[in-house]
Amino acid sequence: MASGFRSELTGCFSTPCEDNPTVVMLEAAFRRLGLNWRYINAEVQPDGLAAAVAGARAMGWKGFNLSMPHKVAVIEHLDGLGESARLIHAVNCVVRRGNTLIGENTDGKGFLSSLVPVRNPQGAHVMLLGAGGAARAIAVELVLAGARKLTIVNRSADRGEDLAKLVRAAKPIEVTATAWTGDVAIPADVDVIVNCTSIGLGDATARVPIAVETLRPGLIVADVIPNPPQTRFLTEARAAGCTTLDGLGMLVGQGVLGVGYWSGIDVTSPATADMAATMRNALEEVFSGVISACSVVA
Ligand code: NDP
Repeated sequence: MASGFRSELTGCFSTPCEDNPTVVMLEAAFRRLGLNWRYINAEVQPDGLAAAVAGARAMGWKGFNLSMPHKVAVIEHLDGLGESARLIHAVNCVVRRGNTLIGENTDGKGFLSSLVPVRNPQGAHVMLLGAGGAARAIAVELVLAGARKLTIVNRSADRGEDLAKLVRAAKPIEVTATAWTGDVAIPADVDVIVNCTSIGLGDATARVPIAVETLRPGLIVADVIPNPPQTRFLTEARAAGCTTLDGLGMLVGQGVLGVGYWSGIDVTSPATADMAATMRNALEEVFSGVISACSVVA
């Protein structure tokens, strides 16, 4: 008798979901691992989130991602939270463990996996531009990984201060939050600077207001923007001799962690070492022109 017609299901709930390329990256990973798994990129409105989660639960989905605007709202529909999700108070990856749905946050860990090969955050002074969801996730993982000092610069001073408080509650390290006015100068003792704002999303000419003359060789400059991967911020940093990290690295990093959480496969083993490259290649194919003008909300 023929069998094997059932696929394991994963996916993403967000709105708008049309331009989110994560499906391409994750289905490439499933093929690479020989898994008969699917990733359903589902358009879910806020008033449909509870039903979507209940549906995934009823169908035995292995797990799912959350993107805008559901990362906080999903929490009340889950059975528990992992440590990062609890500290960040946002969930981007839900994992079925037995009969429970547990919320994890892989955004910041995904960023760390792209940073660590070029700079161990232990002891580092990191400057974060922005204080939204991406900044929160990155800040918490940086302090958990041993960063020495965080300098937060945000347009809205209140939101910057809220993030500083959240970081101090996670670990008592040195954190300062300042309001963003004019072109921000990068202090000489900063090791890593990260654009965590949405400036540059879908617009390679958009300018992050920094004093470019304070960029210097040796500084690591990262951008969370995945589309276009080569932002003006990174172009200016590269011209100044900085080491640059694009937003695709973070996107791939959190995707790799999601696959590990859902499948139980050890994604750090040599047997899966090429999985990240497979995922990045799949995204680069997408970004090489086919969907180049889309706005990606990871
Ligand atoms: P939020 O809406 O939560 O935060 C946006 C941040 O950008 C805020 O700090 C906001 O400042 C700031 N900002 C927006 N426009 C400006 C501007 N013109 N000048 C100065 N500051 C500005 O969004 P998220 O944090 O969730 O997402 C931010 C970006 O990160 C998005 O582009 C998203 O696609 C990307 N991302 C990438 C991921 C990846 O894997 N590569 C993963 C997750 C997110 P204020 O508080 O003053 O409004």
